[in-house]
Amino acid sequence: MNADLHCHSNVSDGLLAPAEVARRAHAGGVTVWSLTDHDELGGQLEARSTAEALGMRYLAGVEISVTWAARTLHVVGLGVDPSCPALIEGLRATRGGRTARAQAIAAALEAVGIPGAYEGALQFVSNPDLISRTHFARFLVEKGFAASTADVFDRFLGEGKPGYVAHRWATLENAVAWIGAAGGIAVIAHPGRYRYTPLEFDALFGAFVDLGGRAIEVVTGSHTPDQYREYADVARRFGFEASRGSDFHAPGEGRVELGALPPLPPDLTPVWDRLL
Ligand code: AMP
Ligand code: MN
Ligand code: MN
Ligand code: MN
Repeated sequence: MNADLHCHSNVSDGLLAPAEVARRAHAGGVTVWSLTDHDELGGQLEARSTAEALGMRYLAGVEISVTWAARTLHVVGLGVDPSCPALIEGLRATRGGRTARAQAIAAALEAVGIPGAYEGALQFVSNPDLISRTHFARFLVEKGFAASTADVFDRFLGEGKPGYVAHRWATLENAVAWIGAAGGIAVIAHPGRYRYTPLEFDALFGAFVDLGGRAIEVVTGSHTPDQYREYADVARRFGFEASRGSDFHAPGEGRVELGALPPLPPDLTPVWDRLL
């Protein structure tokens, strides 16, 4: 079973259309697949029909932006019903502030000598509701302000950098509730990326369990091999099911291809067991 349960299309901040991501996943050996665009379900029908035509199992997915303890974290919903009104409404509200935020990011970039970033980022956007920092990053790379999108985040768009604009996303409680209302399983995405203290992490995992959260990503394109081990231990300690996903966005961007990650540690319970 080659499960890749986290990736993006041009319905959010990926570069390929959902059907192209499906074909790339299939070519990469994926047998159980989920497209998890940020705060959006618009790619789900195309993703499912292409995946099933290629013979892959498909789980409808989404990656919800959440603010918890004054920081952003991401919660993936797997096996959701994309026609669930509570989920659709919640995602619409979560996306709502992105345009004003993007204008504030552009103003902050202009103040450090980078003009025209709002229009520039928009050239990379397919879904006008979903302008993301990734689109700004592609524009800054194109204009030669940075060598790669990762470099843009290090120098301009990451927390504390000149183009960073604080934003309030969904609450953890709401995100987990919307996923549950849609019949899905809530998964904490790439926990190794968050700069919480150990106490905050324990509080986060405890709060997530209390809200009905069931799983965390262990093997993800955002983790180092040391972090696979660290979060495998967290899964054991909290009784979480484990997920695996590349977080693929675009060819040549990011560290791993669809389907190419190592398997989960064999003693963990894969999140897809209960969903298939
Ligand atoms: P946003 O939802 O607009 O805040 O954008 C978040 C997206 O930016 C993430 O989903 C990633 O695709 C991308 N991102 C965040 N941090 C980095 C990083 N350090 N390097 C490359 N991409 C990043
Ligand atoms: Mn992204
Ligand atoms: Mn994420
Ligand atoms: Mn992602």
